[in-house]
Amino acid sequence: METFSYIEPLNINTNLVCKFCKKPLSDPIILVCGHLICCTCIPNELWIESGYTATCPECGKDYKKEDTTINIPICITEDLNGLKVKCNRCLEGVVINRVDFYEHIELYCKTPCELGCGAILTKNEIKSHLDVCSNFIVECPALDIYCKWKGPRKDLEEHIQKCNTEGVRPAIEALRESVQNLKEENQLLVKNLEKSNDILLCMVKFFFNPNDFNPLEGKDYNLIENINVKENETEKILEL
Ligand SMILES: [Zn+2]
Ligand SMILES: [Zn+2]
Ligand SMILES: [Zn+2]
Ligand SMILES: [Zn+2]
Ligand SMILES: [Zn+2]
Repeated sequence: METFSYIEPLNINTNLVCKFCKKPLSDPIILVCGHLICCTCIPNELWIESGYTATCPECGKDYKKEDTTINIPICITEDLNGLKVKCNRCLEGVVINRVDFYEHIELYCKTPCELGCGAILTKNEIKSHLDVCSNFIVECPALDIYCKWKGPRKDLEEHIQKCNTEGVRPAIEALRESVQNLKEENQLLVKNLEKSNDILLCMVKFFFNPNDFNPLEGKDYNLIENINVKENETEKILEL
């Protein structure tokens, strides 16, 4: 909850003060007796339990939910809106009308950056400020090649000057590339091995049961193709 303090609280008209919490009224409600209290100072049961009876803290008169109204006389609303408050968040403690406090917090209230860089910012500015805040923790651009350095942005430049990792980047990238090539080669070999196994199986079947073997059906058809491909590959290799 955002906070403010009233200016000269002792001089505030008693008609504007809640009979329950003794503070200037906020979202006031008028009771059947005519006394005003804050919406939040009314017992919760009054809103929840039908027929619940509460007592006016000022005159002791009982009231029910239907005895209350939020139709506050305009002069009271205006006086409440015009109460002067001082923002407790701002460094400079801006003094404004109470009615403008919410807008002040959203748009104009300026507080120091929580990371202690010294910048003074509105709520809207805080997000984009992190992209430039000198105290925001950043990582070394060479993180992808294992520099583990982390620190406030203001120290990054100095770190980069002496970061050794950047110097070995070409070597690491070359290694990465050859690992990738090996992986691809390995996949190809596994595939070829599977093909060869299929072909072998097919040949075994044919050897034991040549009459049942139909190379034009289903998988076996592919196997015959595979045999042809294999033969071609083998011939090529032999030519080399
Ligand atoms: Zn109250
Ligand atoms: Zn009363
Ligand atoms: Zn403020
Ligand atoms: Zn900052
Ligand atoms: Zn580094």
